[in-house]
This record gives sequence, structure tokens and C-alpha cells, in this order.
Amino acid sequence: MKTISILGSTGSIGTQTLEVAEEQNDIKVAALAAGSNIELLEKQIRKFRPALAAVWNEEKAKELKEKVKDLNVRVVSGMDGLVEAATVEEAQIVVTAVVGMIGIRPTIAAIEAGKDIALANKETLVTAGHLIMPLAKEKGVQILPVDSEHSAIFQSLNGERKREISKILLTASGGPFRGRKREELKQIQVEDALKHPNWSMGRKITIDSATLVNKGLEMIEAKWLFDVDIDQIQVVVQPQSIIHSMVEFIDGGIIAQLGMPDMKLPIQYALFYPERRFLGGERVDFAKLGQITFEDPDIETFLGVPFAIDAAKKGGSMPTVFNAANERAVSKFLNRKVSFLEIYDIISECMNAHKVILNPNLEQILETEQKVYEFIESRW
Ligand code: NDP
Ligand code: MG
Repeated sequence: MKTISILGSTGSIGTQTLEVAEEQNDIKVAALAAGSNIELLEKQIRKFRPALAAVWNEEKAKELKEKVKDLNVRVVSGMDGLVEAATVEEAQIVVTAVVGMIGIRPTIAAIEAGKDIALANKETLVTAGHLIMPLAKEKGVQILPVDSEHSAIFQSLNGERKREISKILLTASGGPFRGRKREELKQIQVEDALKHPNWSMGRKITIDSATLVNKGLEMIEAKWLFDVDIDQIQVVVQPQSIIHSMVEFIDGGIIAQLGMPDMKLPIQYALFYPERRFLGGERVDFAKLGQITFEDPDIETFLGVPFAIDAAKKGGSMPTVFNAANERAVSKFLNRKVSFLEIYDIISECMNAHKVILNPNLEQILETEQKVYEFIESRW
């Protein structure tokens, strides 16, 4: 029996994690946390019967408490509630599936409490990887990647030696606007950007996929997870999303993980690692697929990758600036306050204006985030 806690249970990764929990009959859910979607959260509580439920929004938490008063579940709210859900005694694994830097505190708290982490929340590792990875090592907890590329790399490294890695080939679909030039991106509407060719995901990561900021964040995520230099990570566009990433070793050999695009595989792999379990669904039919094609990313048009390389090289607080500027810019784009290309302008101006703090502690990371938000509010 595995006992888990899910932070962000009402989202894309959260609901798919609960599907895995339903299909496997030896997963127990100890805690669920969400932002404000109490309608779905109530259904999840009735089905999975966690002892604890956390809702970020205080008013919604009160409403939920009333709705589930017939059940034996404690409802908590705010950051304290989220941290409680991350550290609940019975949980062995915490699935971090909230979106954004809000995940930093609960992730650190979960590691301090000795929980293994099934990590989907990449923004946390991008901004605080230098704190999280050493802490996980010190506490002897595993950071198990849920992001499909990182799960593929993790699977490709099974039984291999880290020092024999030559480079990581991080695959990318290229997003819905692959092949277009800057001029053609001026008129992009929210609806166009929300149509991802291969994956169905939350709104923020779908926009990140369209700008290729997601791939940039994933480069920094990979740097921390696999302890490689940013220059050892090469993005390879492969529009079919069948190869989920690859590792090249010093002898030139390449090991890859392939499969149909389905997040339940990496979620299930993280929850049961190193065991593999049956997972239904379509299988890769190579003859039907016909071809898998490769190209370089267009880094002149889609600036997510060059921004990430720059942020990683400057290091310290710069990845926080890259990430926080993107979080706010995407939110403004989704609210139709800025255009698609202005997402890049906002990130670039924030990064240019920032003076790097080397090796920032948690308070400095959160302060940097606030300063970025203030800077953006004063200009856009
Ligand atoms: P969604 O937007 O679908 O879901 C986000 C979840 O976080 C929801 O449950 C939401 O609750 C909850 N949430 C938001 N803010 C808070 C808060 N302040 N406190 C508590 N809960 C909160 O996102 P995704 O599932 O797509 O992505 C989650 C993370 O996983 C992201 O970091 C993303 O980059 C990463 N990821 C996602 C993939 C995917 O396929 N979706 C693939 C790889 C990585 P509510 O519903 O109430 O708002
Ligand atoms: Mg990914």
C-alpha cells in the first residue's frame, strides 16, 4: 500500500494521479489540496476519503467545510493548510502538482518531513533547485520526476553511471506555432495558444509550450534533477511526441524512452518506481506512425530556450526572475492584458533589470519574486 498526498488535485496532473489511484487498488490518499475548485474537490473527497483537505482560498475552504461536514475530513486553508497537506503524517509520497512558485514552501516542508516527492511542479525546482536537491539528499528522500521528459531521462538512466553521461537530448513538440516566424505571432489569440497539438494540460503550461518557455524551464529542471551542466542539455524538436527524451553517453550510445503521449505513465512510474505496472491505452504502432522527424528549435522566434540558458548561466536569483516574470506575463496574456509576443518582452526586461543574488535563500527567492511582480505592475 502506498499512501500519497496530492497538492493540486483538481488540475490536469492531479486528476490523472487520482485516475491512477483508482486503477491501482493499493494507493491510499491521505490529503488533497486545491486552489478554489471546491466542487471538484468535494467529489474527490467523497470518492477517495482523505483525512485532510486543503483549499487555498479561505472563503471556499469555509464553504467546503460545510459541504463535507457529514464526513471525517479536516478542512484547512491558505499556505499553512497547503504545508499541512504536504506533511501529513501518513503520506509517503507527495505529488507536487500545483502550478507555479507557490509550490516552493510545501515542497521544502514535505522533504523536511521525509516524504518522497513525485515532482510535477517544475517552477519550484527552477527557482529553488539549489536548496531542494541538497536538502533531499540530506533527508534521504527521492525526487521522482513526473514531467514526461524528465521521467524519460530518469528511465533512460536506470543502471547507468552519472559520470558517463555525455548529454541530455530533451525532446520538444515545438508547440502549436512551430514553423511560424515572429511576424506571424503578432496576432495570436488566447484560444490559438491554448490548442496544443499532442498534450492536454493546464492553461499555464499550455501557453508555456507555445512560447517554448516550458522547454526552457525543463532545461533548468533537468540541470538540477540530473546534476548536469546547462551546456550538456540539447533541445531536439520532434513534433510527434513519441520519444519523450534521450540520454547520450560518452561512447556515443543513446538510450531513449518512447511511448504514446500519456501523462499517466510518468505519474504511475513515479508512484511505483522501480516497479512497472500495467497501464491501459493505445500502444505505439511504428508502421502506422510511419516516421518520427527531428529539427532544431527556432531560437530566433521562440525565445523560451535562449532565456533559460541565459538565466541558468547567470544563476543565483536569475532563474527566479525568468520564472516569475513568465508566470505573471502568462497570467496577463490569459487575461488579455498583453499580447503573445509581449510575454517575451516582459521576461527580457525583467531579466535585464535584475542584479543577480548568488545562492539566494528562500526569503530572497520570494522577495525576488515580489520585486519582479512590482516591476511588471509598474510597466504593463
Ligand atoms: P492545472 O492548472 O491543471 O492545475 C493546477 C492545480 O493547482 C489545480 O488543482 C489548482 O487548484 C491548484 N492550485 C493552484 N493554485 C493553488 C494554490 N495557491 N494552492 C493550492 N492549490 C493551487 O496545472 P497542471 O496540472 O497542468 O500543472 C501542474 C504542474 O505540473 C505545473 O507546474 C506544470 O508545469 C507541471 N506539469 C504539467 C503537465 C501536464 O501534462 N499538465 C506535464 C508536466 C508538468 P484549482 O483547480 O482549485 O485552481
Ligand atoms: Mg514536459
